[in-house]
Amino acid sequence: MNHDKSILLIIVQLLIMTGLVMMEMTNEPQGIFRGVLFTVLFIITAILLFMRFRFMVKLKGIVRALKRAIAGNVNTRLLTNDDPLFSEVIFSINELIEQLDKVKVQTIKSEAARKSLLSNISHDIRTPLTSIIGYVDALKDDIAVSREERQAYVEVISKKANALKDLIDEIFHLAKLDANEIPLKPELLDFAEIARESVIEFLPDLKKIDMKLEVSIPEEKCLIVADCLSLRRIINNMIKNAIQYGKDGKVLGIKLIENTKEYQLNIWDKGVGISKDDAAKVFERMYRTERSRNPLHGGSGLGLAIAKALVEKNAGRIWVESKPGIKTTFSFTLPKRNDS
Ligand code: ATP
Ligand code: MG
Repeated sequence: MNHDKSILLIIVQLLIMTGLVMMEMTNEPQGIFRGVLFTVLFIITAILLFMRFRFMVKLKGIVRALKRAIAGNVNTRLLTNDDPLFSEVIFSINELIEQLDKVKVQTIKSEAARKSLLSNISHDIRTPLTSIIGYVDALKDDIAVSREERQAYVEVISKKANALKDLIDEIFHLAKLDANEIPLKPELLDFAEIARESVIEFLPDLKKIDMKLEVSIPEEKCLIVADCLSLRRIINNMIKNAIQYGKDGKVLGIKLIENTKEYQLNIWDKGVGISKDDAAKVFERMYRTERSRNPLHGGSGLGLAIAKALVEKNAGRIWVESKPGIKTTFSFTLPKRNDS
């Protein structure tokens, strides 16, 4: 029943009762008890009417606030009052408005991130392509005179084309991860063994640049249930970074720690490190610190974004701690196997 009808009914009820009171007073003047009863009924009905009005005023307030929120003013909040039922409704509505606020902020952020990602991607694709086109034109026009010069041009073209292919592979990989199109195959793994195997692959690179290795991985098995390819990729990205950006520190460390419910892998170096501001952003797509935007150092800025997505898909956490020039540690965790 809608509220206007219920008010109408209450008014009719009041009128009838008033009539009854009048009849009672004229026909039976001694009926004091009935008179009191009617008076009480009259007061109750009046209170009901008053409550109904208050209810409608509050309801209109809620509707107005909701309309404001729907129109985009998500700072609107409703005030609770002493009516417990109303307080509950108002609390839920405020919660909904808060969620709406969060979604709005998130949408603005993702839109900005999408725009900057697109412009970064097009810049990163256009730059090597322009240079490839330049070298191909030079070869076409016979600008390179000697055989060695031509060979050098071809090598640059090959290097740039391969870097471009790697970049496109990474973008594709990340897009597939986002769309949940890379099926993870969780299986029982020995974290310690995979960490050891991963680091062994980099021994020749480390030797080449004379970088010392400090390993602390338990002898015993560290059982987890995770996707093997993800795990290898996460570790590889981190070791590659430690070598690429931390080689000046001349030491690379890898340490596997057992916590209560999870294993934690730390990969550290003593290179230039990452400032506090950059540390909050290095896991964002295509983010590179000022120094690594230099083409001499540069990657595509996707490695850590991929690592983060993979760690989270495998129910872990990832973070970085850095004291520039002293020690930079990238860490991630993966939950222990349930019954280990
Ligand atoms: P790629 O996609 O080839 O890995 P990338 O190495 O530039 O490219 P990320 O691995 O995501 O991208 O790293 C992002 C940025 O974080 C790097 O460009 C670099 O500036 C910074 N960074 C990462 N690891 C380190 C490190 N160990 N020391 C200092 N800076 C680092
Ligand atoms: Mg990298």
